Amino acid sequence: MFNHACAPNCAVYRDSSTGTTRVLLIRPVDKGDELTIHYSDELILLPTHLRQRFISGRFGFECRCLRCQGVDTMGRMVEAALARGCGSEGEVAQLHMMVALLQQSRTGPVGFTYREFDDWPSALARAEMVLPRLAEFGPETFWARHHVRNLKCLALEALERDTVAFLTLAEHAAASWRLLPPCCDALKDLEARLAAVRSRLPEALRPRLEDKVAQLHGTGLTGLTKDMETLRGWLRQAGCEDGSAKEEEVEAKAETSFQPPPRTSSSSTSAAATSAAAAGKAEEAEGEDSAAAGGAGGGAAGRGGGGKKKGKKKGK
Ligand SMILES: [Zn+2]
Repeated sequence: MFNHACAPNCAVYRDSSTGTTRVLLIRPVDKGDELTIHYSDELILLPTHLRQRFISGRFGFECRCLRCQGVDTMGRMVEAALARGCGSEGEVAQLHMMVALLQQSRTGPVGFTYREFDDWPSALARAEMVLPRLAEFGPETFWARHHVRNLKCLALEALERDTVAFLTLAEHAAASWRLLPPCCDALKDLEARLAAVRSRLPEALRPRLEDKVAQLHGTGLTGLTKDMETLRGWLRQAGCEDGSAKEEEVEAKAETSFQPPPRTSSSSTSAAATSAAAAGKAEEAEGEDSAAAGGAGGGAAGRGGGGKKKGKKKGK
């Protein structure tokens, strides 16, 4: 049984073929440290004041993890990138609400959902209108830009504007990799989406586009690929059949990532060294926002379970 932490030291992999839950160590731990997982990818990329409201509404407990208390190094790094100051919060929230709505349950707010748009071009136009205005507020708007950029990516993918979608998704994936726990469902999903768009690129353009994203987002993308390779290797070692992580399976998992993992399960703990990657992220997070402020990329927090499904509906 694992408790939730907003900067966890373990990642969960649920093997749909056997129903087994496996846990991967993603950060170095000391003897006696509690092993923790995170219950939702989406919440990890929210600043503390929002995250705590949604955790309480969705899961019914008040999170007192090390990040929430402000004493976790990795947590502080993520927090700094998300909310370096909240002076402009009201206006930022207003802009964010042009794209997203607060999701409420009986117990309180549980997260964000995208607004309904008539079609994908309208969603894209809205995202493109809001992004530069959010960017003007500076780095503290990361979490809001993150959601808006994700909508932009979803729209570009749906409209099959593959070249722009590839460039945007590459930034989006690299930015997400820096702040999300390695190997989480949101990153698996982003990797699969990036691969799907990449496979549709015109042959003649592909090398140039690959060079461009390598130049702009090389470290993040290499890190993401490495983490995913580590995960697959680890899963193969553990005897998981779907260690090769086929795209459809990854997508199916991502659709359910809003659900909390079962509290009791046949978990096996094993250590695979992605901690180096985690350490690398900490060093680079500072640079992340300037790239994100450019307004082209984004992250995965806004989608998780409902985002894409909903988005697909919107496009019709
Ligand atoms: Zn917490």
